Amino acid sequence: MKKTKPLIGISGCLLGQAVRYNKGNTHDKWITNELSKYVDFYPICPEVEMGLGTPREEIHLYYTEQDKKEIKLRSKFTRKELTSLANETYEKMNKKSDEAQIDGYILMKKSPSCGLGNVKTVSEDEKGNVKLLPGLYANNLERRYPDIPKQDSGRMKNDLLREQFIQTVYAHYRFSQLDGSMKSLRDFQKKYKYILMEHSQNKMRQLGGMAANLENLLAVLRDYKAGLSGYMIPVNLISFFIKKNKVEYLMEQYYFDPYPKELKLSKVL
Ligand code: SF4
Repeated sequence: MKKTKPLIGISGCLLGQAVRYNKGNTHDKWITNELSKYVDFYPICPEVEMGLGTPREEIHLYYTEQDKKEIKLRSKFTRKELTSLANETYEKMNKKSDEAQIDGYILMKKSPSCGLGNVKTVSEDEKGNVKLLPGLYANNLERRYPDIPKQDSGRMKNDLLREQFIQTVYAHYRFSQLDGSMKSLRDFQKKYKYILMEHSQNKMRQLGGMAANLENLLAVLRDYKAGLSGYMIPVNLISFFIKKNKVEYLMEQYYFDPYPKELKLSKVL
């Protein structure tokens, strides 16, 4: 279904849903009274999705001495290991999120599931250093959707950070609405020119160059489609961009380098 507003994935407790471990919520009135007029919400609660129920035992993050970088999840008092269940649940949730086409996330601060950072993480025996890390679900989102803007409920209280986040969400939404034509991309770039300039003049010039390169590439493909050139011309051009942008998994493909160039077979194509 075509979206008419940006779609924001949001921790359900911020919308007032009684999904917290104690059956409470963390209702944010600005989000439900003001922001709701301009965006649609996609409520999520990873812990309810895991089947932990409401109310439920609190959970917390921990790390082991063997692998200090891997974050794990367990129930706080009974120490029931929950990491595998969580990861399986996130995989299912991610598939649904893919279909929903989310433009941004607002996540409950400091939650062991939803917190984007600063979540208390204890050592396995709770005697080691306490670390401040992202929650397990938020970490999964960051890996899966690095380009989707995310903000935590605490930072949403800061006027500047809130404005930046909403601006980025709208950019993501408008970009997702493009019809795939060069014209729509050029119009998008034109309308975002001053915002891009404000962020980085260098990046804005780079994007302008990329759009121009794309135009040349499309012209070469159009010529090939019309039978005006052999296929090695677009293949060589694509190969050039792959090397320039260091797209490693494509650089390895024999499709772009199938035999010794010295054979000069491309002349006959
Ligand atoms: S912080 Fe996340 S996991 Fe916890 S109650 Fe809210 S939505 Fe559910």
